[in-house]
Amino acid sequence: MNNSPFGHPAWIEIDLIQFKKNILKVKEYIGQTWLCLPVKANAYGHGLIPIALAACEAGVDYLCVSCLQEGALLRRAGIQIPILVLGAIHQDQISGLIHHNLEFTIDSAFKAKMIADICQQLRKVVKVHLEIDTGMQRTGVSIEAAAEVIAFIDSCPCFELVGVYSHFAMVDDLESSFTSQQIQVFKKFTESYIAKRDKKIICHIANSGGVAYFPDSYMDMVRPGILVFGHYSHIPQALKGIQPCFMLRAKIAYSKLVPKGEGISYGHRYTTPVNTRIITIPLGYGDGFRRSLSNKAHILMKGKRYPIAGTICMDQFMVDIGQDSAQIGDTVTIIGQDGREEITVNEIGMLCDTISYEILCGFNSRLPRVYHTENNSLWENEYLDFSF
Ligand SMILES: *Cc1c(COP(=O)(O)O)cnc(C)c1O
Repeated sequence: MNNSPFGHPAWIEIDLIQFKKNILKVKEYIGQTWLCLPVKANAYGHGLIPIALAACEAGVDYLCVSCLQEGALLRRAGIQIPILVLGAIHQDQISGLIHHNLEFTIDSAFKAKMIADICQQLRKVVKVHLEIDTGMQRTGVSIEAAAEVIAFIDSCPCFELVGVYSHFAMVDDLESSFTSQQIQVFKKFTESYIAKRDKKIICHIANSGGVAYFPDSYMDMVRPGILVFGHYSHIPQALKGIQPCFMLRAKIAYSKLVPKGEGISYGHRYTTPVNTRIITIPLGYGDGFRRSLSNKAHILMKGKRYPIAGTICMDQFMVDIGQDSAQIGDTVTIIGQDGREEITVNEIGMLCDTISYEILCGFNSRLPRVYHTENNSLWENEYLDFSF
């Protein structure tokens, strides 16, 4: 672990063996349905290229990203499977989308016309997915307008319609009937406009919640993200082998005895209750470890939990380890397992009053990422050299 770039003393570890197990579990669960893995936002903070390469090895059928930039990085890394760009397309991006052989989304009549004009000028044929809004009210063609947009797409030789999709708004509320309504509306749409066509069109709507609890939402392809990364909070029994593959670790930077009654860190928001040992961890909100975790979160050392003491600084925070001992340079776990103890991303999210997704996406590039496989462990930078 000492060969991290610049010997950096805090890092993210990704267990690609577990990640691939998660993919295989989901594949087994969904049967013949295609699996499209969302790798937007740096693969939910796990690192875009290594995750995408591992996903391809594990047999995912499709990748989806939010924007051209992410799709272009994947193509530059040599990834050849279909990639769908989910986000709204802007005029300036169309030639780049075509250049990188990305499939993209038509979400309105206006966009359809704009894209058609540019593609005709460039004399290119593009593969598109039509997005239908079934109740998210984010992007997507309304059900009422869908027939007209499909007719327009069909009238343009520059378009090859390869998919239609929609997105759930309420699937994380297992009590809500809204997801079933969305499925019904989307299925009615596909039966009216898609099923009778000569050419097969990929219909897809399910995200993680859909995969976990709405088998009638599978259709031709599913797009589970957080479930495959192992952080879905209500994993059904049949998917129990799915586990997180993300660990955050650091080396102890400093250790000292502090007498009873001393204030710790900015604002002295923690006072030592007794004579105690305080250690310093070289990680802070400048890395994406939230300041709102001050005095709330824990870390693990030698299989035991210890509380964060006081305010989290930009680059460091302190931990009260009581009467226990610690060596400078020893590794502690901030997220992940150590012995029988585990700190999950969900636990951290809850403490910050947010969801696992936002915590994962918040870790930035100051933290190097290392990838463990059966054969070796590669740092992201080595991985990149390797894959180009
Ligand atoms: C992010 C996203 C997904 C994946 O969502 P999860 O909740 O991580 O499964 C699927 N579809 C679309 C359109 C998305 O934006």
